[in-house]
Amino acid sequence: MQKRKKLSRRLVVKAGTAAMATTPLLTILGEQAWSAERISESHPTAVALGYVHDGSNVDASQNPTYKIDQRCDNCVQYSATSDGWGTCNIFPGFEVAGPGWCKVWVVKT
Ligand code: SF4
Repeated sequence: MQKRKKLSRRLVVKAGTAAMATTPLLTILGEQAWSAERISESHPTAVALGYVHDGSNVDASQNPTYKIDQRCDNCVQYSATSDGWGTCNIFPGFEVAGPGWCKVWVVKT
């Protein structure tokens, strides 16, 4: 019985040590998994939706609904990640620029 307690304690210590040792690795892997490719303005879906990295480059004649205060980072589809970029539900697996814009912009409430 006593031997079993020591074994359990040893396992707990080993498990704790292993967890502490792998936490930085998991953190790094987690960040890599989170990092999505930044969308290209030439991506077919981006072209179809008039996406641009910088909303000030929107061709207003082609996008009459565009307003200067419409940006990806205040769109309901956007979730910030880092460095002014974020994910967008319209472009799964990609990041879009915070100051960007596309034709399906909807204000985040
Ligand atoms: S849906 Fe919103 S967040 Fe996504 S690209 Fe268009 S404007 Fe940006």
